[in-house]
Amino acid sequence: MKKHNFSAGPCVLPQEVLLKASGAVMDLNNSGLSLIEISHRSKDFVEIMDTARNLVLELLGLKDKGYQALFLQGGASLEFLMVAYNLLETKAGYLNTGTWSAKAIKEANMFGEIVEVGSSKDENYNYIPKGYTIPEGLDYLHLTSNNTIFGTQIKKFPKTDAPLVCDMSSDIFSRQLDFSQFDIIYAGAQKNMGPAGTTLVVVKEDVLGKVSRQIPSMLDYKVHIAKESMFNTPPVFAVYTSMLTLEWLKNLGGIAAIEEINEKKAQLLYSEVDLNPLFEGFAKNEDRSTMNATFNLTDEKLKESFDSMWKEAGINGLNGHRSVGGYRASMYNALSLESVGVLVEVMSELERKA
Ligand SMILES: *Cc1c(COP(=O)(O)O)cnc(C)c1O
Repeated sequence: MKKHNFSAGPCVLPQEVLLKASGAVMDLNNSGLSLIEISHRSKDFVEIMDTARNLVLELLGLKDKGYQALFLQGGASLEFLMVAYNLLETKAGYLNTGTWSAKAIKEANMFGEIVEVGSSKDENYNYIPKGYTIPEGLDYLHLTSNNTIFGTQIKKFPKTDAPLVCDMSSDIFSRQLDFSQFDIIYAGAQKNMGPAGTTLVVVKEDVLGKVSRQIPSMLDYKVHIAKESMFNTPPVFAVYTSMLTLEWLKNLGGIAAIEEINEKKAQLLYSEVDLNPLFEGFAKNEDRSTMNATFNLTDEKLKESFDSMWKEAGINGLNGHRSVGGYRASMYNALSLESVGVLVEVMSELERKA
């Protein structure tokens, strides 16, 4: 039986995407060849890369607005470094909202002065700082839109003259935003777009070319743009499967349609967390993520029975990250409302039995 997969990443993908991807591994488009045994320079693969890059810009509403979409490697973790390498000349601002922001700050520190414009570390990152001031003269301001581990999400983005860089690894394509307010968006594919192995980078071209340092080719966004995301051999399976997920999303009605479903899923789960006296949420209500819901039992003694109940119900990946404890339900685009319903049913069953 297929499980209800609440894993934080890599995570659930649409069933039809898995079917098509596995078919292409055996035979791509009746070519008599596997997707993973053809040249990345072949017409078939170049078309896949072009389609994937175009779909990204189309879904984000960034077509013909000076943006380029790239499928790179090294994970979002390499982008922590690449962003600074390409953009940081003297000083950059970072909003510290969790483990991933802190890691981004650590890397950027090697390239210039980092101003932490705000931080929620004082309360183990259970909220998004607000009302902070952004200093003048930043080379860029870096944000993490969704904090995968702590279950918080930025609802309102700051206005600034500085270029805006955003790590959207765990909520890209999940909600409607004015994506043109960002100059660089990056996201590891394995949370809301595809399998592990590729990182999406969406970059506004006019933000590049302003630093004085030399940039090694593989770390240079301009090189990857000039080579249409094929400077070196791209991760063909990850790019193809991401393309399939983007097509799935487009056919569903795009980000507007998925946002509606994501809202329903989050409402269903959070209302159970709030109404059921056996559970309490971790993140502050107004900053709760629609993608990753963090919560705990109010009575630790119930852990054993709750754990066996959700496992029994075919649920996978509900354990919280070690830095938060408790539980984390990741409700990415491909997770169905029905799966959330199964979890909520287990939670209320626990209350009935207790
Ligand atoms: C998972 C995650 C990362 C790290 O991604 P990798 O692809 O493993 O490097 C970075 N930022 C956020 C917000 C994440 O959720």
